[in-house]
Amino acid sequence: MQCTVIAETVGDSLHPITSQLIGAASSLGASPIVVVPGGIGSEEAASIDGVSKVVSVVGDCFSTFDGGAWATALSPQCNGVIITGATSNGREVAARIAAKRGVPIIQDVTGLSDGITITRPIYSGKAVETTTVSGDCVITLRANAFDSAGSGGSAAVNVVDQSVDVSIAVKEAINKATERLDVSEADIIISGGRGIGQKENFSHLEEVADIIGAAVGASRAVVDEWGMPHSMQVGQTGKTVTPSLYIAVGISGAIQHLAGMRSSKYIVAINKDPEAPIFGVADYGIVATWEDAVPALKAALSSL
Ligand SMILES: Cc1cc2nc3c(=O)[nH]c(=O)nc-3n(C[C@H](O)[C@H](O)[C@H](O)COP(=O)(O)OP(=O)(O)OC[C@H]3O[C@@H](n4cnc5c(N)ncnc54)[C@H](O)[C@@H]3O)c2cc1C
Repeated sequence: MQCTVIAETVGDSLHPITSQLIGAASSLGASPIVVVPGGIGSEEAASIDGVSKVVSVVGDCFSTFDGGAWATALSPQCNGVIITGATSNGREVAARIAAKRGVPIIQDVTGLSDGITITRPIYSGKAVETTTVSGDCVITLRANAFDSAGSGGSAAVNVVDQSVDVSIAVKEAINKATERLDVSEADIIISGGRGIGQKENFSHLEEVADIIGAAVGASRAVVDEWGMPHSMQVGQTGKTVTPSLYIAVGISGAIQHLAGMRSSKYIVAINKDPEAPIFGVADYGIVATWEDAVPALKAALSSL
């Protein structure tokens, strides 16, 4: 099967999701070509196991993100089943490439098997859709839903200069609203909701996060009402995350919040209300106020 993985980059290196995309392609029996926008991290991509070739696409349009220009520059290098990450940039490029090539697109995929049979959550995670695709298509894969490929590859790197007209001139791209680890990149997330009481109390979650190397997330209620950065918001209208561990503190577990985090590997909920819906998806639940539970958690983690 012909398969192309479009690498995801962050700053001047590969985003960890790239290795997961390659791992997913390999699980289908493919030896993917990896197309690297702007050539960032090409050598690193070439060293990932299972990669048949790296195409490093360079050109002026890659200085900042412009989905239209990137799709125009990358599309000629893609063939067969085209895989990107279901990140905001990945989704945009994927949709534009699918439209250019007149092939179907399936977004936010969490399972792949031979055939190709594709599964993905729909209706805010309440149901799982299974689709079988024959022929070329574009699929975007949810972060952390697939195992990373190993290292040890030694694929050749071809450089292609693919300058295209930029339709939108992006003057400045601000990657992060804060210096803290982003929820979409983190393996552990501790999120706070309205039950935290006030914005300043997020410092308690940040202290726990610093001990365990976690990112700090938030429900929409606190993003809207307390002006927390939208980049922290987890849920239907925020980010979809799949960390190994998601700790929800003072979050009720509305369906729109669950849509963004219910596929986390382990979910821990801290809530004073034993009837809170978050306990319905939690692997471990602590019925307590955060004022009691978070300091105890911090003390226990500090002593490890
Ligand atoms: C179209 C649409 C899109 C949406 N998108 C999103 C989204 O992307 N993400 C999102 O999160 N929401 C989203 N929402 C909002 C969602 O419906 C909820 O309103 C929101 O998630 C509630 O946030 P919360 O859990 O922080 O607050 P609440 O629902 O008010 O829950 C607060 C919780 O804190 C607990 N609590 C109170 N005090 C304490 C204490 N001292 N210690 C411990 N626990 C305590 C309470 O028991 C309660 O369960 C969306 C809504 C709509 C209509």
